This record gives sequence, C-alpha cells and structure tokens, in this order.
Amino acid sequence: MRVSKMFGKTQRDDPAEAELPSHKLMLKAGMIYQASAGIYAYLPMAWRSLRKIERIIREEMDAAGGQELRMPALQPREIWQQSGRDAAYGPDAFRLQDRRDRQMLLAPTHEELLTNIVKANVLSYRDLPLILYQIQTKFRDEPRPRGGLIRVREFDMKDAYSFDADDVAFDASYQAMVQAYKNIYARCGLDAIMVQADSGAIGGKDSHEFILLADSGEDTIVLCPSCGYAANAEKAAVRKSPLPAEEPASTEEVATPGVGTIEELSEFLDIPSAKTLKAVFYMADGRLSVIVIRGDLEVNEIKLHNALDATDLRLASPGEVKEAGIVAGSASPVGLDGVHVVADDSVELGANFVVGANKEGHHLKNVNYPRDFTADILTDIALAAEGDACIDCATPVETRRGIEVGHVFKLGILYSEVFDATFPDQNGDRHPISMGCYGIGVGRLLAAAIEQHHDDRGMIFPGPIAPFDVHLLALNADNEDVAKAAEALYAQLGEAGFETLFDDRTDTAGVKFNDADLLGLPIRVVVSPRNLKQDVVEIKLRSSDDAVTVAPDEALGKIRELLGA
Ligand SMILES: [Zn+2]
Repeated sequence: MRVSKMFGKTQRDDPAEAELPSHKLMLKAGMIYQASAGIYAYLPMAWRSLRKIERIIREEMDAAGGQELRMPALQPREIWQQSGRDAAYGPDAFRLQDRRDRQMLLAPTHEELLTNIVKANVLSYRDLPLILYQIQTKFRDEPRPRGGLIRVREFDMKDAYSFDADDVAFDASYQAMVQAYKNIYARCGLDAIMVQADSGAIGGKDSHEFILLADSGEDTIVLCPSCGYAANAEKAAVRKSPLPAEEPASTEEVATPGVGTIEELSEFLDIPSAKTLKAVFYMADGRLSVIVIRGDLEVNEIKLHNALDATDLRLASPGEVKEAGIVAGSASPVGLDGVHVVADDSVELGANFVVGANKEGHHLKNVNYPRDFTADILTDIALAAEGDACIDCATPVETRRGIEVGHVFKLGILYSEVFDATFPDQNGDRHPISMGCYGIGVGRLLAAAIEQHHDDRGMIFPGPIAPFDVHLLALNADNEDVAKAAEALYAQLGEAGFETLFDDRTDTAGVKFNDADLLGLPIRVVVSPRNLKQDVVEIKLRSSDDAVTVAPDEALGKIRELLGA
C-alpha cells in the first residue's frame, strides 16, 4: 500500500479528547473515527489489524473443535424476558420496536438465542459435546463509554458457547477454551493473566477473566506474590484479621459531639477503626438495606449486589435514610426494627465494637454480634485491599490495574433450564445440557495490545497483528535513484509475501520518521540518497533503537531474519 493513496490521515498533535494511550494513538494515526460516544468506525489501518486478530481467534477456536456460525444482533425481546435478563441488563440493553409494535432488543450477548437453536438441533446424547462460536457485532448501552475502543457501545466480539452432557465433560470443554484463549493472547503478543472473576449479568456459578496488567486499566486485580492467587477485586476474597479476644462487656452510650465519620470516631475515642462498625445504606430494588461492616473495611458493591440478588442497587439518598428513622453520622444496626440488615462477616471477628446510637452526637460502646443486633444476611461483602492476607496462604496481597481482554463462564444448566434445552441419554432419560460461554472483544484486544506496546513516540505493534509488516520509507522520493531503488524493494517485498506500507510521499524525512514511529509497524526500511551513495539501505525494528545497514539486494533476507519469517 502506498501512503500517498492510503485512506486515513495521521495528525501531528495529540487529540485533546483522548486520555488513554491507545485512544490517543489510534486517533492520531487515523485508525478510528468516532461516530458518537462509544461508537467508532474502523478506518483501513485499524481494520487490517482487527482482521488479523479475528483470523488468529478463528484458527484457535477451530483448533479447539469450535464450529463457526452467525446469529442475528436483532432479537425478539421475549426470550430475554423469559431468562430474566431483560431486567438484569436494565438500561444497558438497547431496545426498540418494529412496525408491528413487537418488542425487539439489540443483543449484548447470545446465550438465549443459541440455547434455543441448540435445543432444536441436539436430539440425542450423540450430538454432544458441541462448541459453537461467532464473531459478530454486539450492543451495550454503557453508562460511561470511554477510552476509545476499550469501553464502547457497539463492538465486535467473538462469543463461543460449549454444550456438554454433564459437568465432567464440561470441564474438558472449559479447559480447551482456556487453552485456546492462552494461545490467542500469546499469538497476539499479549501477556495476559487468568484471574477469578465475578460473573455479572451473564450469570452462572464461576468465571475467569483474562487480564492485561496496565496502569490505564479500569479493573483492579488482587495478586498473591507467593501462591499465585489472582482475582478481580470485584470477586477477590482475603483473610480478615481477627481482633484480640475479649469478654463481651455491657453496652453503654457515650456522647460523641461533632463525630460523623469512622476516622473522627476512632480519633475521638482513641481506638483503631477496626474496633468500630460502620453502617451504610443502599436501596436494593426499592428496598432500604443497612449494610454493616467493620470500620477498617470497605463495602464491595459487586459482592453486595450478589448477596442481595438485586437488579438495581444504589446508595440510598439522605432523605430515604432519614425516612427510615435513621440518624446519619450516628447510624446503627442496633435497635432497628423492620429494616433489612446485611452484615459483613467481619462483625464476627471482634468484640465490644463501637457503633452509632442512632441518636444525634451519640455512639454505643461494647456492641457485640449477634447479642446486640442481628443480620438478615451475614456474608463476605468486603473489598480486598493491598496488603490484606491472601485467602489461600496469608501472604500480603498486591493490587494492580488491568484491562479485561477475555471472560470465560461456567454457566452450568442456568439457560438450559430456562429454555428446557435437554437431551435424552442412552436410556432415554432427559437431562439439561451443561453450558459454558467464552468472550473476547476484538476491538478491545487491539486497544489493549496498544496499551501494552507503545512508547512516547507511538505504537509498537506485535508482528502478528500489525496492519503491515514493513514500513518502507523513501526519503527525497523525487530523487530518481531513491525512487527506483525504493520501487524495486517495494515490488520485491510484495512478491515475497510481506505486507508493506510504502511511504512514497514527497514530505520531509522528519514527517516520515514521525509517522513511522507513530504507526509502529514492526520493521522500518529507509531508502535515502545518503544511504544509496554507500550502496546500502537502513533497516530497523520499531522495538529497537539500533538500525543496521545492508546492501539493497540483501534487504529481503535481513527483513526475513528480523521478522522470524
Ligand atoms: Zn497466596
């Protein structure tokens, strides 16, 4: 491809609207065009790269026994109502109606439809196991689309689904998919780690995410440096430190004038925050819940969401708290009648806590669970933090930021039961099909690759997903010798099967070098009058600062060697 003909212009200045490196660099390189918030057009440079990522994904899915199919994005809303996910997705789903007023939905994922398709096609145990996949456009009305291709509202995703006769057979499918994912990341030049994750709106009993560690990531990952425990902070469990044993003392009220926060309380009474209990208030599907947790811990909203099995969860407003007869700043689970209470299991790891007295300017000392208050739900709802003890080996855990580039789910029989997708075994007895689902966002993978591979000059594409293999620069392109040598090399590279971006423009060397660094193709080849005088061309890897010079007729061999082709 000649740069003079290439569609999509590079920009000299950093785009003001972009914060993430991948977003900034893709805009600057003329790879994407924003149509609306979180909705992008892929220009040729991006599309070439995305198609290579898709090819790698297809090859690995096929190698793992997958069969590709294609389902529609536009779906009847009733199957989503049947599974309960019309409500679970809430405002995140795009909904519309057709001319006959039939309710439709633009699918964010395809469990409902595919379970119905499989039900119609799996007639016996002999038809299992199955792995089906597609690469297709998905829609999700994200509340905060951000970061270019990292969090978007329309995106291409590879979604695969496995169907097995039982849990044992399912485990083999799950492992095959996990291995395929590892292969995909490795081939795309990405260093991804597998972590335990929350299943969110997809549901099911268990799931894992693949994460690229990057400071710009929006997920927090909890890692144990000793035993390898790794989990998304949404899911991560840690050992909570028990406090020294104490005999429960009798409850007494203390005046705490002007005290409103846990910090103020522990300072006023000169006690560690772990000796206090804090109460926070949430509305879960319209009902007020009082959440009680030890003062040194924070509430994990995802765990709380799961504990409450809530569709809609938000912090309660001051008005809603007051209406329930609760005094903010001195709020207490003690003596609350008829209010739903969720307690973190840390309330059991200590005695004689200080909590609010539900009375302006007063707290209660020596509050003990369950003597002085009870909970409707007692479970782990705490957020893991840096330095907490690993759940498996007690080593202090570390936290890192990361970008999710894949998510695999053990669905079990969740959807098979809803849609009655069963199969007859050898004896004719019917069983629900055991399912898994497996997703990779193609555009996000590209963005994440750039997050992991760039410097202050531009992108540094991993070879297998680079839009082109070679960036051929003709400096002083109107010089006859340069033009002749560069054209000859361009033709030679094409014949040898290398995808070459040939900068044949008459722009200055500075502009061309800057564009080459920005676009970050694996190899840069420079043909210039000065080099030609010495009968050489200059070859450099984008990932290295060292250039080599070789005779023009040795260039192809050298490029092959550097690309490992
Ligand atoms: Zn550990």
